[in-house]
Amino acid sequence: MTDTPLHDAIADLDSAIQRLFGPRQDTSGAWTASIWAQMVEAIHDKPSGGNRGVFTTGAVANLTALDWVREIEMVTSHLTKLRDTPQIILESLAHVQAWGPEQTDQVTQLAGTVHSWARRGEEYLAPHSVLEVAANCPECDVRTVYRPNQYGENCKTAALQVTAEQCVCLNCKSEWSPEHFELLAAVLGCDPVETKIA
Ligand SMILES: [Zn+2]
Repeated sequence: MTDTPLHDAIADLDSAIQRLFGPRQDTSGAWTASIWAQMVEAIHDKPSGGNRGVFTTGAVANLTALDWVREIEMVTSHLTKLRDTPQIILESLAHVQAWGPEQTDQVTQLAGTVHSWARRGEEYLAPHSVLEVAANCPECDVRTVYRPNQYGENCKTAALQVTAEQCVCLNCKSEWSPEHFELLAAVLGCDPVETKIA
């Protein structure tokens, strides 16, 4: 069977479904649970250090994850008569037999929607990932600082902390944007070690 625009659209839908529900690799190359599984888990994450009744940033994050999951459940529940999980419903649609040739645009649109869900999930999960750099800060020459953890205990941690958005020194508050990361890495002459901070 030759490839048709519908086949291409189905393949795109299939890759979007994999992106959302398939296992994924983190920056260190280790396999982790799917975006979907991590987002469902994030709904139930305990906000750290929050007092009862206080609306913490953790609680806001939980709500964002909840909105995301609810939206996907709602949209997918209207796609077919199937009453099942979003993954099963979407997978049932990733076949040429599920569509007519005139529905190519609809498949393309659905693939775009699923990709956008995956992208939002990736963005949500990304800020939780922090790289601790085991090197002295080029500005203040400090390597480690003490910071209270979620239990209020003072813990030793690397002064240089890198996220997708920036690198900051917890000691002197110097900041570097991603376009300076390569230069910074060269100055430091080291490989960052990844740690997860929930
Ligand atoms: Zn510094």
